[in-house]
Amino acid sequence: MKKFQLYFLRIVNNGFLIQFFSITGFLLFSGCNAPDKYADIILFNGKIITVDNNFSIQEAVAVKDGRILAVGKNEEITKLLTSSTREINLEGKTVIPGINEGHVHPIPASRSEYEYSIPDISSIEELFNWISSEVIRKDTGEWIVHPKFFATRMIEMRQPTKYELDSVAPNNPVFLNGSYAGMINSKAMQVSEINAELEHPGIFIEKNNGKPTGFIQRSAFDLLAIPERNEPSEAQKLKLLKEMLQLYNEVGITSICVGAGRIEDIQLFDKLMVTGDLTIRVFHNLYLPFDPHTTLNEMRASLSKFEYTTGKGDEWVKVGALKTKIDGGVLTGTAYLREPWGEGAREIYGITDPDYRGVLNLNKEELIRIITAANEFGWKFTAHVTGGGGVDVLLSAMEEVNKESPIDKKRFSIIHGNFYTPESMDKMAKMGVYADMQPAWFLKDADLLNLVLGEQRINTFHPYKSLMEAGVIVNGGSDHMVKLDSYTSINPYNPFAAMWSVVTRKTERGSVITPDEAISREQALKMFTINNAYASFEEDIKGSLEPGKLADLVVLSEDILSCPEASIKGIKAMLTMVDGKVVYEEF
Ligand SMILES: [Zn+2]
Repeated sequence: MKKFQLYFLRIVNNGFLIQFFSITGFLLFSGCNAPDKYADIILFNGKIITVDNNFSIQEAVAVKDGRILAVGKNEEITKLLTSSTREINLEGKTVIPGINEGHVHPIPASRSEYEYSIPDISSIEELFNWISSEVIRKDTGEWIVHPKFFATRMIEMRQPTKYELDSVAPNNPVFLNGSYAGMINSKAMQVSEINAELEHPGIFIEKNNGKPTGFIQRSAFDLLAIPERNEPSEAQKLKLLKEMLQLYNEVGITSICVGAGRIEDIQLFDKLMVTGDLTIRVFHNLYLPFDPHTTLNEMRASLSKFEYTTGKGDEWVKVGALKTKIDGGVLTGTAYLREPWGEGAREIYGITDPDYRGVLNLNKEELIRIITAANEFGWKFTAHVTGGGGVDVLLSAMEEVNKESPIDKKRFSIIHGNFYTPESMDKMAKMGVYADMQPAWFLKDADLLNLVLGEQRINTFHPYKSLMEAGVIVNGGSDHMVKLDSYTSINPYNPFAAMWSVVTRKTERGSVITPDEAISREQALKMFTINNAYASFEEDIKGSLEPGKLADLVVLSEDILSCPEASIKGIKAMLTMVDGKVVYEEF
């Protein structure tokens, strides 16, 4: 027994006791005759990609009481068998740590198709066909709303015009919601009292006649007279969320970081946990509980009353970062760039102001106040920012706060970011700020941005390799918000499609953009495993397959490290295990 080097650790984490043991080395039973613990499950005859510090590869893994008991050679691990052990012969298949998704919105996504499914639209023609069918299906005057429509993702890369929409839907108001901007038809304007007399910064006006073009920014969304949708009941909400999480399990996801939400949202996950229906671990960011434009003292007062901080919870549901929103989005020309959007944006977004750089919701001083308050009260801080100009404002605010009270151990992050220069990467590395990236955006939108912004600026778009070389931790996620399917949802949350794009720099339209920024398959895997465990301060308990860590793992249909490059995006999860329990199986 003395040869077993067992260390029992107890970690007190915000009042929650997490008990785990670690067993040094892989060769658990060298020199021993009988193990003192037998496995609940053994997966053997496989290729176990551990994602440990050495990226070591093993043959088998044993699981006991929701933890990894041992990882090693077949003959070592099969010694842990007993009559009640479930044996899974991998027959050469590959196992990776459970996928940790860095940025999703499962609650709105789960409800997005509960009344009717949202169509996949890839061209203007398909859009008009769908609207025409809705006109027939609905009553005259009833709204036709697409809840997440990015015109720039269609073959034509353009919005339909107001006149085109009017011709297919003359008597129904139409709203194509693109998150940060959208398109409406004349009927929508009429019923919402949007007209030439209404002066509103979010309404674009036709130069020649002074009438609204139909293209509106998010700030004008509240003007739309759209009737409230039927809210699902509490029981329905829980059922829908549970089903959404099961769909995540089907692609190998075992942990998620929820991009943003409220306390009530966290409570939904807690309720699923209580009933034994939670099949995913959750790190949940929260919106600021105060007005971002208010004084520092008001922010402090608000946070002092807030009974939550980052890390509160347990290994199933945990409070994440405080999150704010700095600018708009790249798909609607509202991201705040370093330079004006320019000529290329005229056609696609209808931007005519030569100096227009995008929308900046918060200035540096406001950000300094918010970050100072968050830092003082023990919060991890993060912000949505999609343009390089916004990244620079955020980083200079972080630098100011860092001078007063260091943030380099706080694991602050930039959500999206998208455009990084050597200077910004340098600052991030120095302050320990990691990059929360969405490769699905590269996959879907790099062609459009190449066209709009030109070759020079596209070189700074999603520079994974440069970020890593600069010493910045890069995290993978999708920003999934709407629809259920892993490939056709917005944004697609299939982690293997994302990993394929970071390894190949290929886009959905078949081009290869800035191939120098491609990273290795190992680095891609880390983006979706250990790096996201680090983001939630949990790299000691998950993110790799090592003894003592949580038994969250995935069996893959193909070997992600050696399969043909083109096959990566089609890899399937054959079995997903969370906490030692099989939550999805196609074996
Ligand atoms: Zn998001």
